[in-house]
Amino acid sequence: MGSRDNFMQRVGAIFDSHWLTNNGPVVQELESRIAGRLGVRNCVAVCNGTIALEIAIRALELTGEVIVPSYTFIATAHALHWQEITPVFADIDPATHNLDPAAVRRMITPRTSGIIGVHLWGRPAPHVELKAIADQHGLKLMYDASHAFDCSREGIMIGSLGEFEVFSFHATKFFNTFEGGAVVTNNDALAEKLRLMRNFGFAGFDNVIHPGTNGKMTEISAAMGLTNLDAIDSTVETNRRNYHTYKETMAAISGLSLIAYDETERNNYQYIVLEIGEQFPVSRDDVVKALHAENVLARKYFWPGCHRMRPYRDLFPHAYLMLPNTELVASRVVVLPTGTTLPAEAIETIASVLRILSTY
Ligand SMILES: *Cc1c(COP(=O)(O)O)cnc(C)c1O
Repeated sequence: MGSRDNFMQRVGAIFDSHWLTNNGPVVQELESRIAGRLGVRNCVAVCNGTIALEIAIRALELTGEVIVPSYTFIATAHALHWQEITPVFADIDPATHNLDPAAVRRMITPRTSGIIGVHLWGRPAPHVELKAIADQHGLKLMYDASHAFDCSREGIMIGSLGEFEVFSFHATKFFNTFEGGAVVTNNDALAEKLRLMRNFGFAGFDNVIHPGTNGKMTEISAAMGLTNLDAIDSTVETNRRNYHTYKETMAAISGLSLIAYDETERNNYQYIVLEIGEQFPVSRDDVVKALHAENVLARKYFWPGCHRMRPYRDLFPHAYLMLPNTELVASRVVVLPTGTTLPAEAIETIASVLRILSTY
């Protein structure tokens, strides 16, 4: 979190203004600062990342089947299923944890209308290949960029790939608005459509011109966003330092590997992703148990994969046959704690637990 004083000042101004929600000045300021930072024409702030995905999917008029990874947070798939669109899971590249373009090609059918790429851990999905596939097959393309806020690819900020890029500003993300999210796009007409959908389709008083929902962000959430934007560079710097400390301490432990970030790009380093190799003497599940026993909140991610969760495991009971790399990666990954509140000595403590396990 950014500065408490900074936040309280903004909250005071909201109390004085009596403008609590409905596209208020604080939401508008947040939108213009995000659009400026990411170099995109339009930012539409909404109440959470899942609604952001849902309205983006609707604005693109996706139907039938849409290809997504299974190795992602469940909301990527749910946002489709909620609208009676079938998420079709394509396998990932085990080296990047991102969609494998060859696997995406294999999952295309006559019912496919689009692809939603995910920039997992903030590392860009193979956007050049995905764009080529989408163009060749006449598919719509958008991105779930929930992990990739403030990250770049080829020196350009994530935000202008596909028709839309969608962010989550949930409290568990490194940049948060308590709950919140945004859709960014360079397409002004689509942005206008999103703004209508976010507010019941209202175009001025008494005039509803579009189907819509209630996806509005509150002024208090936007105030938190501005406060956290003021602090974002120092937050990222802390995350970067934590990542490098982890990297140095883990390097000596054989059988473990931390995922790499391209240091020539801007990264947010919000995920410390450890892979437990086959040579490591203790299983991934036992590593997590041992860390929990030492009060370390390590987590399996995105285990067991969307395709093994309901309703998808009932709808597509054989999906795992197409997803060997998803199954492999989901069985190996442990995500370790980081962020500005991680005590300085914690990383060495966590490494010492892993060092002991490595001698079993
Ligand atoms: C967090 C997250 C979401 C959901 O965002 P909410 O703001 O929690 O609704 C969607 N996709 C991915 C990849 C996420 O990490």
